[in-house]
Amino acid sequence: MKTKPYDHYKPVADLPDEISHKKRKPRAMAVVDDGNCTGCKVCVPFCPVDCIEVTPKEEHAFSSPIPPVRVRYNECIGCSICARVCTKLTWDAIHMLSLQNFQAAFPEVDISDNFISATALSGSSDTAVIEI
Ligand code: SF4
Ligand code: SF4
Repeated sequence: MKTKPYDHYKPVADLPDEISHKKRKPRAMAVVDDGNCTGCKVCVPFCPVDCIEVTPKEEHAFSSPIPPVRVRYNECIGCSICARVCTKLTWDAIHMLSLQNFQAAFPEVDISDNFISATALSGSSDTAVIEI
């Protein structure tokens, strides 16, 4: 009897055809463990709302020449695609937190119900870093 080989990449989504925006408050939030992230950026094009960006060198705590990525929390829809991509294709540097746990860890980040552009939030602590 023939058996189908296990598809190791099944949990990895296709690249999005187009970029959309958050329409409601998410149930979960993607948080990059910047001590584990290699800065490879493999996760970046998979995000359906394009809210993963390279951390500016002056803003990350480690002296690595390749800065980690970070999530613009207020744009994240909690789909977990980035976490699955990072785990399956590269490292294991993105953790999905329930919104409740996220807000306990990041009380300074106010997650909006709807999409607010990063420009509108510039100067806020939208991309604060967590130690996991
Ligand atoms: S795929 Fe993982 S290791 Fe690579 S940049 Fe994204 S979070 Fe970092
Ligand atoms: S969970 Fe990851 S892929 Fe999904 S919207 Fe948030 S940052 Fe983007």
